[in-house]
Amino acid sequence: MFKAFLIKYAEIGVKGKNRDLFEEALVQQIKYALKRCEGEFKVRRTKGRIYIDVLSDYDYEETVDNLKTVCGISAICPMVQTEDEGFDKLCGAVVDYVDRQYPDKRFTFKVNARRARKNYPVESMEINALVGEKILEAFPEIRVDVHHPDVMIYVEVREKIYIYSIEIPGPGGMPVGTNGKAMLLLSGGIDSPVAGYMVAKRGVKIDAVYFHAPPYTSERAKQKVADLARLVARYSGPIYLHVINFTEIQLAIYEKCPHDELTIIMRRYMMRIAEAIAKKTDCLGLITGESIGQVASQTIQSLAVTNEVCTLPVFRPCIGLDKQEIVDISEKIGTYETSVLPYEDCCTIFVAKHPVTKPNLNVIKRHEENLKDCIDEMVQRALDTDELIVVEV
Ligand code: ATP
Ligand code: MG
Repeated sequence: MFKAFLIKYAEIGVKGKNRDLFEEALVQQIKYALKRCEGEFKVRRTKGRIYIDVLSDYDYEETVDNLKTVCGISAICPMVQTEDEGFDKLCGAVVDYVDRQYPDKRFTFKVNARRARKNYPVESMEINALVGEKILEAFPEIRVDVHHPDVMIYVEVREKIYIYSIEIPGPGGMPVGTNGKAMLLLSGGIDSPVAGYMVAKRGVKIDAVYFHAPPYTSERAKQKVADLARLVARYSGPIYLHVINFTEIQLAIYEKCPHDELTIIMRRYMMRIAEAIAKKTDCLGLITGESIGQVASQTIQSLAVTNEVCTLPVFRPCIGLDKQEIVDISEKIGTYETSVLPYEDCCTIFVAKHPVTKPNLNVIKRHEENLKDCIDEMVQRALDTDELIVVEV
């Protein structure tokens, strides 16, 4: 039934001179998502609107599912498209649309016509009234409500006639690639994939780094992180995932630093290494899945101590969310099931029974001194282990 889609976008519409740039980026992201779908499509941009024409057979569900991953889209409107063969045919097409789309006719509606082609003989207001009449004639149970209709039936008169009434919500936000690039610290947990998605949604391209600690963490745990990256990549586009061997550093910290400070010191080295890779790869910030108070290493004092090693801004989009709110987003974006698979990440193995919750920066720095003979070479060696996995959907 639907041979075209109207794509609505919200925020990018207000970007003034940059609007062209944003629209073009959105078109590119739509094309990227459609490449995953069977069928032939044409994406067009006219007068502040984006249309997708379907040129072949296609799978409606698959297409809508993929469009729902394009950041910058606020709504996807599947449209019926017919040739302009006179006003009677137009009325007939709308009646037919209503009949097929709404088997149960007990609802209120309003027609909202837009005559983009000004030489069309019937004016918008007239189209509203006359098409409305035809619908009422055809279906006695149906009612008009011009103020709060259950269904708004849009009729657009362009070179062809378009009819739609359904708006499927997209992710919102801005097209990826319009706001630079950032480095996501991606673990196998629930929070960091959500954090990556939230920043990507604001138009930021994502690279990722994962610290593994073989043999303490398994190959399967690494695969899980790559799987999560692939799920995030549905929204963010291709992700360059850097896998860093962290075992040597972790063992050194374990051996030489107080055990209640293990996690904090480890987190500081993760941030340092992530930042080094970020700077090499033109990332303008770091992203983590931290949330205030969630665990000992995420008290506000711990976050301050972790943050102290970074010069790039650290984005923590989950910072004010409760765990359940983060879980809700992970379910929505489809990462939850993978996140809860039971493979150890390196943080869960080297954990102290009673980690500090209010670390003191000077004390932490003093204990990091215990590593000074070896740590610079270890950091360099860790950077040398960088295994790059290009993750695409
Ligand atoms: P998540 O669910 O994202 O794993 P978490 O609640 O388990 O988070 P932590 O393990 O303390 O919290 O990690 C806090 C953040 O540090 C994570 O959200 C992630 O951004 C980063 N991080 C933790 N472990 C790793 C790792 N092995 N590799 C890369 N980043 C990591
Ligand atoms: Mg974790």
